[in-house]
Amino acid sequence: MKNFRNIGIIAHIDAGKTTLTERILFYTGKEHTIGQVDDGTATMDWMEEEQKRGITITSAATTAYWTPKIIRLPDQEPKYRFNIIDTPGHVDFTAEVERSLRVLDGAIGVFCAVGGVEAQSETVWHQANRYHIPRLAFVNKLDRIGSDFFMVIDQMARKLHTIPMPIQIPLGKEKDFIGVIDLVQMKAIIFEEIPDQEARSFRIADIPAEYSVQAQEYRHKLIEALADQDESLVASYLSGAEIDINTLINAIRQAALSGKVTPVLCGTALQNIGVQPVLDAICAYLPSPFDLLPEEGTNPDVPEIIGTPPRLRNKPAQRKHSADEYFSGLVFKSATDRHGELSYLRIYSGTLDEGSTVYNPRIDKRERINKIFLMHANQRDQLKTASAGEIIAVIGLKNTATGDTVCDPKHPIVYESMTFPEPVVAMAIEPKSSADREKLSDALSKLAHDDPTFQVKTDEETAQTIISGMGELHLEIIKNRILKEYNVAANVGAPQVAYKETITGVIQGQGTFNRKIGEKEHYAHITVTLEPDRAHLQPSIQNQILEKIPKQFLPFIQESIKSSLLSGPIAGYPLIYLKATITGGSFDSAKSTDVAFSAAASLAVADALNKAKSITLEPIMKFEVITPEKNMGDVINDLNMRRGVIESIDDSGAQKRIHGKIPIAETFGYATVIRSITSGLGSFNLEPADYREAPKQK
Ligand code: GDP
Ligand code: MG
Repeated sequence: MKNFRNIGIIAHIDAGKTTLTERILFYTGKEHTIGQVDDGTATMDWMEEEQKRGITITSAATTAYWTPKIIRLPDQEPKYRFNIIDTPGHVDFTAEVERSLRVLDGAIGVFCAVGGVEAQSETVWHQANRYHIPRLAFVNKLDRIGSDFFMVIDQMARKLHTIPMPIQIPLGKEKDFIGVIDLVQMKAIIFEEIPDQEARSFRIADIPAEYSVQAQEYRHKLIEALADQDESLVASYLSGAEIDINTLINAIRQAALSGKVTPVLCGTALQNIGVQPVLDAICAYLPSPFDLLPEEGTNPDVPEIIGTPPRLRNKPAQRKHSADEYFSGLVFKSATDRHGELSYLRIYSGTLDEGSTVYNPRIDKRERINKIFLMHANQRDQLKTASAGEIIAVIGLKNTATGDTVCDPKHPIVYESMTFPEPVVAMAIEPKSSADREKLSDALSKLAHDDPTFQVKTDEETAQTIISGMGELHLEIIKNRILKEYNVAANVGAPQVAYKETITGVIQGQGTFNRKIGEKEHYAHITVTLEPDRAHLQPSIQNQILEKIPKQFLPFIQESIKSSLLSGPIAGYPLIYLKATITGGSFDSAKSTDVAFSAAASLAVADALNKAKSITLEPIMKFEVITPEKNMGDVINDLNMRRGVIESIDDSGAQKRIHGKIPIAETFGYATVIRSITSGLGSFNLEPADYREAPKQK
C-alpha cells in the first residue's frame, strides 16, 4: 500500500488536465498511442459529448503503474500503482470534482503558463483545501507564446493561500523550451524527440552556464522554504556543506504532506516535455494511503447491528488505512450504463470480495457485491477481491446512493458524505412525440440518480417536467445525452431561475392522522418546529422526541419531513436554510403505523409552513469576466445594468479580470453579450455563491 497513489488532476477548463492524463497513460504503458483531446481521441474523454466538445464532463478513473526514473529514495520499492481521476474543469460539473476530492489522497493542480491562476483553478484549489489534500502543481503550456512560469508562481502565492515551492525551473522559453532544471539534483533534464514517434525521451545533463545563477537562486529559495521542516538541512546548506539528496527529498515530501507548501513542476504536456518528472514527483512527494491518519467516522445509531453496543452509538469511530481492519468504504459516484448500475467505491479499510455482503447504515440495509471491477475510463477488468486504498467500481448496490458508506455488517461505521451545491438554472423539457413521454422520464430519472446536481420535478400547475442543473451547458449536455444515449428527442424551454424559498421566523406545526383505511385503524401525532438556519444550505432534521415514539417510526417521519420541504408555500420551490426539529408526538401501540407517521409528519410541516412568513430566494453567482482593457468601461456599465456588484479588478497580461456577484437571472445569454461587447475577445465564468431575497415579481 505504500506504493499506492490515489490522485486527481484538477484545474480550470483548458489548462491541460486531460492532455496531461493522456501522457501519463502513455508513459506508464497503459496506452500504446497518445490520445489527443483535439482529435477527439482522448481515452479519458470517452463520452460522445466530451469528444465532440473537447472537454471532460464526467470524472474518469484509471489505474497505471510507474517505476521512478529520475528521483528515487533508497528504501522505495520500484513499482508504483496510480489510481488517477481526471476531473472536469467547468464549474457546471462541480459535483464531479467534489466527489472525486472526497476520496483522493493527493492531487496535481495544472495551471496554464499563459492564463495563470484562473477563477476556476482558484475554486477547485480551495475545494481541495477543504478536504486537506496535499498537492503538486504543474505549470503547463510553457511552449506557448507569452508563457511565464514565474508569473504563475507569483499568482499562486497571492491567490491560493499556499507557499508555491518550485522544484524545477524552465529551460528555454516558448518555442525554445526544451526541458527543465531539476533543483533537487541540480541537473538539467532535456527532452528530445524520438524519430517517428510522438513521445520524447529525456537525458540528464549539466545545468547550462547561462542558467547557473538562476538555478542557484531558486535552489536557495527551495531550501529556505524547507526551514520549517528540517532546520538541520538549512543549517548545513548555509554552512556550505554538501546536501544529501535523500535528506532533501524527504524534507520536500514532509513539507508537501503537511499541505503547507506546494512543490511546483513545469513543462508542456502537449509537446511531451516534463511529464516523466511529474510521475516521479507523484511517487516521491504525494501520500500513499499508508501515510494518512485513520479515516474518521461515527458508529451508526442502528439497533439491529450486533457489533455496536448502545453506549458507542453516535460516537466517533475510525478505521486505519489497512487491509487488516474491518471492511469500510465510501460510494462516491454511480453511473448507469448498458451493463447496469456501477457504484464507484473508495475502500478505506479491510478487503472486499466478490459475492460478499456489505451493510449500508444510512438505509439500514445489507447489499450484495455481485461484481468488482478495476476501471479504465469506460473499460473495466473484473476482480475477485479488492482491498484498502483501492478505488474500484462494483455492481450490486441497488439501494445505495452517492455519498453513502458501506461497511462490514457486524462492525459498522459511517463516514462523512460530500455536499453538493443546489441547481441554479431550470428548464422545461418535453419529448418531441408523446409516445416518448415514458422513455424521457425514465432517462431523466437515471440521469438524476447519477448526478446529484441535476434534478427533475413536475410543475404542479402546468404539469410540465422541469429539469434543473448548474448552468446552461450542464442542461444542454443532458439534453444531448438523452438524445444520443437514450434515443429520445426532446425540446427544452428557455433557461429559468431555480428559485428557492425559506422562512424568516421560528414556527411550530401540528399534525394528527387518525383514519380507518380498509379494516385497519391508523393513528399518529407529530409536532415539528421549523427555524431559519443560515449556516446550512440543505434543510436538516433534528430529533427531540427521544423515547416517546418507537424508533422504528423515525425513518418514516424524517423521510416525510424531507419530502414536504421540497415544495415551499409561496410557489412550490424547494425550501433551504432551515432546520426542522421533531419536538413531540404521541402514538398508540394498537393503531400507530408507518403510514400514519408519514402522514402526520407531512401534515405538521404543512401546518407550520402555512403559518410561517416565507420569502423567495434567488441564486447569486460569483463571476469573473475577462475583457480587453479598452472594452472595460462598456463591460462594467452592462454589468451594473444587470444588478451586478463589482468587487475587484485585476490585470491579466493585456486583459482585465473583473470579479463580483450577480443574480443568475441576469446572466442568461451573457455569452453572446460579452462576445459582442468585446468583439469576441472576452470570456466569463460563473459559480454559485449564495442566495438572496428575490425582487418581487412585477
Ligand atoms: P482540460 O480542459 O484541462 O482537460 O484541457 P485539455 O487537456 O482538454 O487541453 C485544452 C487545450 O489545450 C487542448 O486544445 C490542448 O491541445 C491544449 N494544450 C494542452 N496542453 C498544452 C501544452 O502544453 N501546450 C499547448 N500549446 N497546448 C496545450
Ligand atoms: Mg479535460
